[in-house]
Amino acid sequence: MNVASVIVDVAAMQTDRPFDYEIPERWREVIQPGMRVIVPFGPRHVQGFVLEIKEDTEIRKLKPIVEPMDIVPVLSEELMKLAQWLTIESLCFKISALHVMLPAAMKAKYSKLIRLTGEKSLSPELASLFEDQTEIPWEVASEADALTDIRKEVKNGTIEVIYSVKSKGRTKTVRMVKCLLSEETLAETVETIAKNAVKQKEALLAFSGRRGDWLTLKETGMSPATAKSLIRKGWIEEKQEEMYRDPHSGRHFEPDKPLSLTENQQEAIAPILATITDGTTETFLLHGVTGSGKTEIYLQSISRVIEKGQEAIVLVPEISLTPQMTERFKRRFGNDVAVLHSGLSIGEKYDEWRKISRKEVKVVVGARSAVFAPFENIGLIIIDEEHETSYKQEENPRYHARDVAIWRAAYYKCPVILGSATPSLESFARAKKGVYTLLTLDRRVNDRPLPSVDIIDMREELREGNRSMFSRTLFDKIKDRLEKEEQTVLFLNKRGYSSFIMCRDCGYVAGCPHCDVSMTYHRHRHQLKCHYCGYEEPAPNICPECGSEHIRHFGTGTQKVEEELLKLLPEVRIIRMDVDTTGTKGSHERLLRQFANKEADILLGTQMIAKGLDFPNITLVGVLSADTMLHLPDFRSSEKTFQLLTQVSGRAGRHHLSGEVVVQTYTPEHYSIQLAAEQNYESFYQKEMMMRNMGGYPPFYYLALINVSHKEAIEASSAANKIVAKIKPSLSQAAVILGPVASPIARINDRYRWQCLIKYKREPKLTVVLKEVLEHYAKQGKSNGLLVSIDVHPYMLM
Ligand code: ADP
Ligand code: ZN
Ligand code: ZN
Repeated sequence: MNVASVIVDVAAMQTDRPFDYEIPERWREVIQPGMRVIVPFGPRHVQGFVLEIKEDTEIRKLKPIVEPMDIVPVLSEELMKLAQWLTIESLCFKISALHVMLPAAMKAKYSKLIRLTGEKSLSPELASLFEDQTEIPWEVASEADALTDIRKEVKNGTIEVIYSVKSKGRTKTVRMVKCLLSEETLAETVETIAKNAVKQKEALLAFSGRRGDWLTLKETGMSPATAKSLIRKGWIEEKQEEMYRDPHSGRHFEPDKPLSLTENQQEAIAPILATITDGTTETFLLHGVTGSGKTEIYLQSISRVIEKGQEAIVLVPEISLTPQMTERFKRRFGNDVAVLHSGLSIGEKYDEWRKISRKEVKVVVGARSAVFAPFENIGLIIIDEEHETSYKQEENPRYHARDVAIWRAAYYKCPVILGSATPSLESFARAKKGVYTLLTLDRRVNDRPLPSVDIIDMREELREGNRSMFSRTLFDKIKDRLEKEEQTVLFLNKRGYSSFIMCRDCGYVAGCPHCDVSMTYHRHRHQLKCHYCGYEEPAPNICPECGSEHIRHFGTGTQKVEEELLKLLPEVRIIRMDVDTTGTKGSHERLLRQFANKEADILLGTQMIAKGLDFPNITLVGVLSADTMLHLPDFRSSEKTFQLLTQVSGRAGRHHLSGEVVVQTYTPEHYSIQLAAEQNYESFYQKEMMMRNMGGYPPFYYLALINVSHKEAIEASSAANKIVAKIKPSLSQAAVILGPVASPIARINDRYRWQCLIKYKREPKLTVVLKEVLEHYAKQGKSNGLLVSIDVHPYMLM
């Protein structure tokens, strides 16, 4: 057992296979599959993952491993197998599949520490290494050849290995102040403060009864400036305190109890509980209208899993990973829950990952990548809002979380629950065929009615002289809600979709110089920004084409809606939620809390308010333009429109007040708008399946999308043509190749883009030939700048 086969951390076609290395004598007991090691590779040292340990190899001159990076495997045997499967499924490099499973903090650039847990005492040999310290750098232990001993201690729970994320700015500190005056002098001093220094007085008084305590500035209510002057007077002192990384900022979650399930819920949960008890794998599609109590089913299924001593993974779309959603899990399962989402810092994510890895928690609630949570006794995987396209990763490895979940569930012999009010067509079709088990919740809890929906034809409004972005119906209802002090949600599809700059004299539209898209106007900075490549420039005041001054911004971004609303109803209180107002950490949560506290009448926002909101006082939902997504060059555009409208409508009337929805559209006759208004999923499914069948799209056909890009348009198109010629002979008559054609966005970041779409049902040779294409261009790519990527089961077609 002295040879390790290693996948090296070099993402290239030539290195996409295991390389054998000798395990030096002193690490024979340490190095195991699933660990990372440093190995010599060419002239440099690189990181690698140990795949397996072997007795022997055909390779003659083996190079030795430089050193291990881990003391215990970071990837279990199961995750290693999963990576192998992912590599084949998504045509990615083995190293990418391995990396996607680990938190960013564990990438090589972070330093490692060996820390005493303080639980038991240490063996004398190691104790001398630590002397009086509780932690020592990894390097010290490695140089002292102590890794074998340390590994034993890790298993005993005496020692742990920590990745320290200490790049600047990452440790959080908070300013604390303490009063230096005695209780008596405090009152006297306050008297001596000048009358107009009200803030200083208030700040000092905040210490009454607490003058010995260190308080945060927030707790005393004083500004940094006030603090400074009080320090100068010698009345208070300050210090910087390091804060423990806590994504919930120390919030306390009031525990709650399982609700007694409705009959509908009982019927739905019974088969799930049966599979948990029996330990069998099965995929359930839980189709439940908004507010039908799906989450309660998740919670009670998880309880059963925990009782059995197993673990559960819950995936929610990033966008609906709202405090409201995570709170429900925290309240039910308390400290047994870890939360993973992109709003966390690298350090926070690592802390949560560590809790999972050490099995300190039983449940993880997280976005897409949480599907790789390093549990080793999984009893249930839940994917909420399973139709969300964000479950597909749009970079290598291009995996879909649903496929990964089903793979892992099969490995652990446990169920998967896919939940949605509007299941993806693919999943619903599988349920109809019996591949998944369909569970239906067709009523809201307590039979609260679904909101009534008004479809407003905006062409009609225009014909009758209403040029505003609010139909008369919507405007009247908003006014009505203001009078009744009820709340309204206004929904605008996608930020800045049409917030562009146009010249009214010559029709010039400000486009990105590097991409074939128009730039988005940002009012507060008077800037134009490209959302594809990030290019920015100041917005022009005169038209660069014709010199006219009649150049202004058009369209209905959320800022524009807010302005118009304030013009019509000056007294209205609006909270705007879009990418601009939620950029800073915690702002999302703060805005929602303000709305929940009724500090505003209207919540105006984009996609991010479509999901998960559950406020009792919302009785009106307005969709300003339902069609913005309908005309995108994407065969899923009807499905996406239907899903979004259904979700948004579901925000209204969830509690005792009943709700109304107003949908404004220029295409009121479109079936996805009509059927979303009726909340008629079944009819939409039938109609859309017919369209997909006619168009030859999923779920009737599989898709593979090939993208080619190059700085020269001619190079991109000629390579795309060559690729098609290469693939064609390997495919049967039943397969269809669309293209090559220029991509709908023909240029991004100065690279011209061509694409070709393959539609197929069964093509055994396809994977092989696609891999060959990638290999061929990976070799050539470096020399002439051509980039080829292949997306199997794509969701982004532009
Ligand atoms: P969904 O996830 O299907 O949209 P939720 O789980 O959010 O639905 O449930 C909607 C509301 O109904 C929530 O406020 C929830 O607390 C409540 N609820 C769910 N199940 C029950 C039940 N069995 N009894 C009483 N209230 C329930
Ligand atoms: Zn002009
Ligand atoms: Zn651009």
